[in-house]
Amino acid sequence: MRVQSRHARVVLDGEGGEIRCSLRKTLFSDHSEFTRPVAVGDRVRVTVFGPRDAVVEEVLPRRCYLSRLQPETGREQIMVANAHQVVITVSVEDPAFRPRVVDRILVSAERGGLEAVIVMSKSDLVDDRTPYEDVAGVWRSLGYVVVFTSTETGEGVDEVRSLMADRMSVLAGQSGVGKSSLLNAIEPGLGLRARTISQKWGKGRHTTSAACLLPLASGGFVVDTPGIRSWGIVGLETADIALFFPDLSPYIETCRYNECTHDHEPDCAVKAAVDQGRVDQRRYESYLRIIAGMEED
Ligand code: GDP
Ligand code: ZN
Repeated sequence: MRVQSRHARVVLDGEGGEIRCSLRKTLFSDHSEFTRPVAVGDRVRVTVFGPRDAVVEEVLPRRCYLSRLQPETGREQIMVANAHQVVITVSVEDPAFRPRVVDRILVSAERGGLEAVIVMSKSDLVDDRTPYEDVAGVWRSLGYVVVFTSTETGEGVDEVRSLMADRMSVLAGQSGVGKSSLLNAIEPGLGLRARTISQKWGKGRHTTSAACLLPLASGGFVVDTPGIRSWGIVGLETADIALFFPDLSPYIETCRYNECTHDHEPDCAVKAAVDQGRVDQRRYESYLRIIAGMEED
């Protein structure tokens, strides 16, 4: 499904055809915490009045989702619903390596129930990989798949292609890290198609960033998140953020205070684990920056 501010294009079950639907007004009041009540990938209940006349009545419960804080409105923007995984791209160089951006998107993925794959792009730009391998090792120890890629040498391209086959993936990462180039390497023309469609759909006055499903030759779909610069976390109490750090969450039960933010409180089991080297210091710093409300860019 494609979504505009007041309309959505819906693929009808069984029939395969696409129909442009208006959105029932009550959807907006019922879901006012969101920038839009319907997201790409949503399953919806539709009443069809005629070939060009249909309305989305209800958004069915989401199996999973990826969302972020839309800074302009302070609301939660669902980037995509019911996808299988988020592919988070971070360049090792140019723009400079920013692992904290990845950690932040990982929190959104954990919270939305999405699997995550981490792509460390532009591997051809560094000679000594040791520091990047170290960070990759921490992420791998948490269960995330990490792939080094280069569209110059071709490293990792086949692996990412097969990780995306037959699945619905959402691409995330800062601009310039090489997402379109990687899509093009996976399938010629794909990155370009993503950009063209996003421009076409991004023109609407209320559409700050449009997303749509692009079919892959290998089966599956990819959803790009063009123009998304910030991945703020929304709708979580500070004390709950650690729940979505799989490396911190095992310790939180043993903190002295129930509402421990693992920052300054005495007898904090998370801080103790960091001091003992059982939790990676860099991950803990990512956590502290998130609870302090700092943006990564
Ligand atoms: P996007 O904004 O994330 O879609 O990034 P682009 O795909 O547009 O890439 C940004 C710039 O990085 C372009 O100039 C690309 O040529 C360059 N680039 C992309 N991938 C690689 C890579 O693997 N190695 C090198 N050296 N440059 C790359
Ligand atoms: Zn604590």
